[in-house]
Amino acid sequence: MRVVVVGAGAVGLCCALTLQMQGHDVTILDPAGPGEGATMGNPGGISVSSIFPTAVPGIHRKVPGWLLDPLGPLAIHWRHLPALAPWLWRFLRSATPARAEAATLALRALTADAPAVYAPLLAYADAADLMRQDGHLIVYRSIATMEAEAASWRRRAALGIEATPLGPEVLDLEPALDPAFRCGRLVPGNAHCPDPRRLMQRFAATLERQGGRLLRQAAHDVAITDGRVAAVRTEAGDIQADAVILAAGAHSRRLAARLGDRVPLEAERGYHAEVQNCGIRLRRPVFSTADKVFAASMDTGLRFAGTAEFAGADTAPDWRRADGLFALGRSLFPALRQDETITRWMGLRPSTPDSLPVIGRSRRAANAFHAFGHGHVGLTGAAMTGRIVAALVADAPSPVPLAPYAPDRFA
Ligand SMILES: Cc1cc2nc3c(=O)[nH]c(=O)nc-3n(C[C@H](O)[C@H](O)[C@H](O)COP(=O)(O)OP(=O)(O)OC[C@H]3O[C@@H](n4cnc5c(N)ncnc54)[C@H](O)[C@@H]3O)c2cc1C
Repeated sequence: MRVVVVGAGAVGLCCALTLQMQGHDVTILDPAGPGEGATMGNPGGISVSSIFPTAVPGIHRKVPGWLLDPLGPLAIHWRHLPALAPWLWRFLRSATPARAEAATLALRALTADAPAVYAPLLAYADAADLMRQDGHLIVYRSIATMEAEAASWRRRAALGIEATPLGPEVLDLEPALDPAFRCGRLVPGNAHCPDPRRLMQRFAATLERQGGRLLRQAAHDVAITDGRVAAVRTEAGDIQADAVILAAGAHSRRLAARLGDRVPLEAERGYHAEVQNCGIRLRRPVFSTADKVFAASMDTGLRFAGTAEFAGADTAPDWRRADGLFALGRSLFPALRQDETITRWMGLRPSTPDSLPVIGRSRRAANAFHAFGHGHVGLTGAAMTGRIVAALVADAPSPVPLAPYAPDRFA
């Protein structure tokens, strides 16, 4: 089939490559380069332990405190609140024990064994050097804070996610850490991509080398006849398609609506601060849950990523949030100086109220499929999404149950 994939982020490229490996003729559209969207600046965590949705019971008690802290983990621009309100309302309604549990199981299915699910793509693209499996280290300053999270780790263990509890050995594993960190957990099943943009460039180059096309065009619209997309419209003309995959990340809402599915999708803005040439090389990503900062040594520098900001997709970045991440980073690694050379980045997580992506056949066109809304786990879940989408295109059984990701679940 001639398959057109809209969007060359992690999700679009994993779909494109998987489809090509199954023999389809794939064209991918993106006005930006491969991996230039949210995928570009994330810290590369391939995190099989990220299985909990953001909307969990009790979240409404934590939100006010976060909002009062100007550099806290969550910010809402008050001007954006009217547009955000319906999403927020659904978010709060998702925070029941039953819904949070259902979302947990669906996130587990999407992310389970992610490094192994990536393996065939990495082999096809000769990109094994861009994925490392040394686990992730979760660090705590006190036994009490570590214990406070014990129940969530018992839940993960019940779902097959291993974690090794550690005492002061955390400092042997990562000697650059502040000695105030006294304990932690090592999650061996997690992996790391040291340069997500380069991985996507590698995927795109492979796609082209194997006969696919990457066109620097935006998909403006779809031409639908007799319940099928006949072509994807771009400024350079129509591209005929036997199947279409919508993977435009946080920008997917308008085309999804054209395909008959009204989906609450927000641009949940996140930031990174990256320190160049600081001399600290972490052996694996480090996450401090108290600080809500994820630190990872990338091929380009030491990256601190995090924060969630709801301000709309088009408002100017608030670089104080990236600076705040750097300040948190310095509290983790005291050898960092105030005057380090840092670069800052802001990206748009494509986020749904229940933290689950939208994957499935569109309502208006039988040959169009959605693959967006991966929120905090888009890099981790992209390879499995590629497998699901390839199964949908082939009308074959999905590797995981599809109901939790149904595009019409918000109707
Ligand atoms: C600070 C931060 C930290 C993160 N950390 C992690 C992490 O450690 N692990 C993890 O798994 N995830 C992480 N994420 C989430 C992850 O980055 C995203 O979920 C993922 O990148 C989404 O991929 P995507 O392909 O859906 O979207 P994107 O990467 O945004 O790609 C979408 C592409 O679609 C293109 N596009 C838009 N409109 C059109 C159109 N009309 N036509 C054609 N193309 C179009 C855009 O140009 C873009 O290139 C993080 C995100 C942030 C912001």
